[in-house]
Amino acid sequence: MKYFLAFLIGTCFGSFANVCIYRLPRNKSIIFPGSFCPKCRHSIPWYYNIPILSYIILRGRCHYCKKVISPRYPVIEFTMGLLTLLLYQKFWVANFPCVFLFYFIFTLGLVIISGIDFETFLVPDVIVLPLIPLGLIGALLCENFFFPQSGNWYMAIRALYSVTGIFTGALLVAFLAIIGKIIWKREAMGGGDLKLLAAIGAFLGWKGVFLSIFFGSILGTIISLMLIYSKKKKWDDYVPFGPYLAIGAIVAMLYKGSYFLSLYFIP
Ligand SMILES: [Zn+2]
Repeated sequence: MKYFLAFLIGTCFGSFANVCIYRLPRNKSIIFPGSFCPKCRHSIPWYYNIPILSYIILRGRCHYCKKVISPRYPVIEFTMGLLTLLLYQKFWVANFPCVFLFYFIFTLGLVIISGIDFETFLVPDVIVLPLIPLGLIGALLCENFFFPQSGNWYMAIRALYSVTGIFTGALLVAFLAIIGKIIWKREAMGGGDLKLLAAIGAFLGWKGVFLSIFFGSILGTIISLMLIYSKKKKWDDYVPFGPYLAIGAIVAMLYKGSYFLSLYFIP
């Protein structure tokens, strides 16, 4: 029951993520007006706006103009629901939701960034930049529970770990960008990836940065090869790396736990 509730709440945040993915790149307010159909501009009442279910009931079409609704909507809603469930299972500690909350915000940010990068090839500053100090704040705030015996000393180590993560992420992308320019003579990675990996480092530490790149590269290679094989893309088409990095970070977070738990302290 608790897991089901976590999933449901997650799908609602997925719905919010969809609003951000559509409106942020178009410079529209994410609060006002309420949901509307991008084709016929008809506002969507709440009963046609229930995550996942409405898409199924409406058979993927706008109720008013019958325009096809992008499958991105239910996919993001379901993904966010599933991730919330997994985060709840892994990071929720009774009376101490701090770690869960920070990783939930991190995950929501990554999902929004992926969606926008996937469609526009841009990583939105308004989402990625606040994540960097937020990861550091998390490192400072969420400590005493897991190491009750720890004092300021452990807090300092955790903060240091977060800061080294930020720099590892940023420097690594800068390094790869230079290598890419020399070898392939084109932009392999951009400033958006740099900020994104700095944010990942703030939350997951420097080991998390390497894990995210590792998982992200494997996934990126597999999907790119599949797209090339199915002739949907050519060898030299531009592929945004941001969504793969974000998925890599989510896998790293769930696989290894947070730096609060295992990346640093438990080998
Ligand atoms: Zn419509």
